[in-house]
Amino acid sequence: MSATVCVLASGSKGNCTYLSDGNTHLLIDAGISCRRVEEGLSKLGRTIGDIDAILLTHEHIDHTYGLVTIERRYHTTVLANRATAAGVDARLSTQISQFCRPDFDTGFRVGGVYIMPFRTMHDAACSVGYTFVMGGHRLSYVTDLGVVTDGVRQNVSGSELVILESNHDLQMLATGSYPPDLQARIRSDKGHLSNAQSAAFAAELAATGTKHFVLAHLSEENNTPALALQAAKESVFARLGVNDVLWTVASQNAASEVIEL
Ligand SMILES: [Zn+2]
Ligand SMILES: [Zn+2]
Repeated sequence: MSATVCVLASGSKGNCTYLSDGNTHLLIDAGISCRRVEEGLSKLGRTIGDIDAILLTHEHIDHTYGLVTIERRYHTTVLANRATAAGVDARLSTQISQFCRPDFDTGFRVGGVYIMPFRTMHDAACSVGYTFVMGGHRLSYVTDLGVVTDGVRQNVSGSELVILESNHDLQMLATGSYPPDLQARIRSDKGHLSNAQSAAFAAELAATGTKHFVLAHLSEENNTPALALQAAKESVFARLGVNDVLWTVASQNAASEVIEL
């Protein structure tokens, strides 16, 4: 029994992550072009035709950009809550809502994978994160978090691997090129998690047993992989004094390493 994870792309220009237990193959979001998804999967020995379902976190274009083309070519099952599906339809002029699951607020299975969606605070119709139990492992995906709520905490705690947003360095955001209203949106409880917020949450999670973090949804304008990594590592070390946690930083332009649990 195993679980395989590869973040094909992550950031404000497009997000897509592949997960598999060897039998069931899933994508989280499809915010990059169909061609890039095809290329990313082919390096893993897979095609979009192998994908059992695409799970959406929310309707923003950096999470849904490739969806229309993928649907036209492959008719892959798309799973989203009703509000997100309606949001996708409105944004992309599609009928994705025909695939939505009315019972999306409770856990469900796709093949051998148990999937638990949970609400996140973000300025979308009904954004969610996910916790998966697959191949005997528990892992979580949480990006586009304005803030870490108790609900997020409860759902993510105890996961062996966490794909966690570390969007911006506060100093870079404050002194960068973004106008004040956009800065305020990013910093707000409905925006994105800063390195400092992400680092504090990573320390909490490491104390619950998380062994591997994939820092994700880094801003290309307002962050660097080195800053995100430094903040998270220092926070975990300060809390636990351990350095056996594994770290990966997901990128906008290249797929991550293939992580095998
Ligand atoms: Zn996003
Ligand atoms: Zn978003």
